[in-house]
Amino acid sequence: MLAAKYELDSTNSTAIQVNSIRNHITGLNVREIERKAIVEIQLHRQLDQLKALHEFRSEMMQKMERRYARLKKCANELRVELAKVLKLNLQLTGQASLTELSVSELESLESTLENGLQQIRQSLRQQYKDAIESKVETCIVCLTEKVSMVFLPCRHRVLCGNCALRVNTCPVDRKEIHDMFPTFGSI
Ligand SMILES: [Zn+2]
Ligand SMILES: [Zn+2]
Repeated sequence: MLAAKYELDSTNSTAIQVNSIRNHITGLNVREIERKAIVEIQLHRQLDQLKALHEFRSEMMQKMERRYARLKKCANELRVELAKVLKLNLQLTGQASLTELSVSELESLESTLENGLQQIRQSLRQQYKDAIESKVETCIVCLTEKVSMVFLPCRHRVLCGNCALRVNTCPVDRKEIHDMFPTFGSI
């Protein structure tokens, strides 16, 4: 009888222990599952952010590539234009052979040069005229030295001694200089 009671008590005690352990394990599992779920949610969020970042980056890369292609095209066009301009410049300054040009190309070049020369002459005249009218006593060529030469026969007095020695015609009226002599003081 006693033995039977002990056995029963023992069985009850074991059952209680098993239940307690089961509760403990169940409690642990729930917390573990919750923790894992939170971690999983965080990982999903991070993954979404990474995907968005990746999309943004690849979009930017595509934009940069398109921009690069446009710039490359522009640079090539400019290179072609520059080659044309350089060639034209060599022809205009007489440094390139003109034999390969056709009659119409030569005529066009001639009229371009004539127009340019006309504009340069007009501009020079205007500057000489302005210098004379403003009665500035500095040389109209070097713009630094004082005027010190008078030309004959036109009697213009616009250049310094150094600049006067380098010209054969008067810069104001293009008349040939037959003689020149130094002047002193103001007019
Ligand atoms: Zn001068
Ligand atoms: Zn003169």
